[in-house]
Amino acid sequence: MSEETAKIINSKALVAEIKEQVRTEVDALDAKGWPVKLVSIDIGDNPASGIYIRNQKRIAESVGITFENRHFPSSITQKELLATIQSLNVDPRVTGIILQRPIPKHLDLDTLQFFIHPAKDVEGMNPANIGNIVYGKFRLVPCTALASVELLKSTGLDIRGMEVVMIGHSEIVGKPVSLLLMEDLATVTVTHHGTIDLASHTRRADAVFVAVGKPGLITADMIKPGAVVIDIGINQIQVTDENGKTRNRVVGDVDYTEVSKVAGWITPVPGGVGPVTVAVLMRNTMLAGKNQRKKYEQTMEM
Ligand code: NAD
Repeated sequence: MSEETAKIINSKALVAEIKEQVRTEVDALDAKGWPVKLVSIDIGDNPASGIYIRNQKRIAESVGITFENRHFPSSITQKELLATIQSLNVDPRVTGIILQRPIPKHLDLDTLQFFIHPAKDVEGMNPANIGNIVYGKFRLVPCTALASVELLKSTGLDIRGMEVVMIGHSEIVGKPVSLLLMEDLATVTVTHHGTIDLASHTRRADAVFVAVGKPGLITADMIKPGAVVIDIGINQIQVTDENGKTRNRVVGDVDYTEVSKVAGWITPVPGGVGPVTVAVLMRNTMLAGKNQRKKYEQTMEM
């Protein structure tokens, strides 16, 4: 007897679509003498962020965006970093700024992140950009949150009236996902580590989004048959192969093998939310460039 398996949501198609749109718009800005440039601030030596940065650079360049990584030693002070961010904020050649995480403990992440000018905050983490979402005005929206919602939309399912459960309530993912979905008239329940009986919520959901950071948190018995499962979690685990060798593996928060037998749609990890997030980062950078150019044209008309 063959087991039912969920449809894998096609993130490749979504990434290709976003990249094509970004490439066209970036080329148009370039033709106006307005090249798009993304500057990354990377502090200390973190092997994981090295991989992320190389990947961001590759994708940026594939859509015509210049990518510059500025690496700083972990001994850098908060004051020096604030001065660096300020110089990038006022530099008209810089379109967008991203702050790579994690950062050394002696630095204050929120202060640094919020110091990036809202018009260049392509990660969408400045309170001004987050606040706009509450008003249904989508300027620069947090990339992972938007990527996750667009993956749900790519299924073609009607979001209006959909029962959605968001697991995790971080500023970067859970909260913006719930606001975006509310804007599309889904009925959203937000759950977190204070939630009593998580499964009682997830079992009645038409779509479950999970962003926690706990491998295997979501099991098949927690999912309504046919539901959509968007797995945002990224976890490194060690697995032992048949020859007894251990190696690192990246998994999400969902027991993918078992949940696939129950869900209607699912995103894999890796290869689901992650690549769409990077594509959305490039689209935010392009949008920032368009807005900056528009502001410049308005000033010239005055
Ligand atoms: P976080 O680490 O700031 O917060 C974790 C959230 O999980 C909190 O809301 C907490 O209340 C909730 N939580 C913890 N234990 C829980 C439990 N037992 N049941 C229900 N909720 C519980 O969250 P974050 O920064 O949004 O990251 C979450 C995960 O998403 C991590 O694995 C992270 O690596 C991943 N992530 C992925 C991307 C991507 O591009 N795919 C981007 C950002 C974060």
